[in-house]
Amino acid sequence: MRILVVEDEPAMAESLTWGLEQEGYVVVVAATGETGLWLAEQAAPDVIILDVMLPGLNGYQVCERLRKNGVWTPILMLTAMDDDLDQAEGLDIGADDYLTKPFSYPVLLAHIRALTRRGLRERPAVLTAAGLTLDPGSRSVARDGVAVDLPAREVAVLEYLMRSQGRVVSKTELLDHCWDAAYDGGPAVVEVAVHRLRRKIDPPGGPPVITTLRGEGYLIRAQDDRS
Ligand code: CA
Repeated sequence: MRILVVEDEPAMAESLTWGLEQEGYVVVVAATGETGLWLAEQAAPDVIILDVMLPGLNGYQVCERLRKNGVWTPILMLTAMDDDLDQAEGLDIGADDYLTKPFSYPVLLAHIRALTRRGLRERPAVLTAAGLTLDPGSRSVARDGVAVDLPAREVAVLEYLMRSQGRVVSKTELLDHCWDAAYDGGPAVVEVAVHRLRRKIDPPGGPPVITTLRGEGYLIRAQDDRS
């Protein structure tokens, strides 16, 4: 098992490395969020231990970017702040677990074992819905095995809806998850993206993949609900 530790404090990073290596883990250390982002993809770790307080990109931003990039490696966030709000924020952006500093090694190891047991099974590498497949790693989409060429934004919208299968997603939610935080336009841009997306993914003559619920949002029905 390979563990990526993203931690800027040398003493903490060393201590984590030593403790984890004693347990037989292979440890890769990144001292900044930027390096962590890079290593999360290059070093293919099985678990990422991510400190929240980092210079430059902080732990939340690193976590959010990894998930946006389709990297679903389990993430254990380390925080010095015993704050429910911060923890909720981290879980919202895709962290799997939390540990507040200071912690003991037995507790840390128990959390890591739980995460590796959980593995990636809860998030299949390739998403499927209504005859479509989407590979978050390569950002590629196919209908019945035939590639569908989509711009990055439409892939992001489709991925979000596929991950939310069976649940109505509002335009605001899509805007929050698929557009940059700096984007200050309104939800009309979501309507345009969904409209374009539909023209490319709907099977000719078949039922639409994405259902519009007026005033509520969009829905991709769960497999079981489709007739
Ligand atoms: Ca730190």
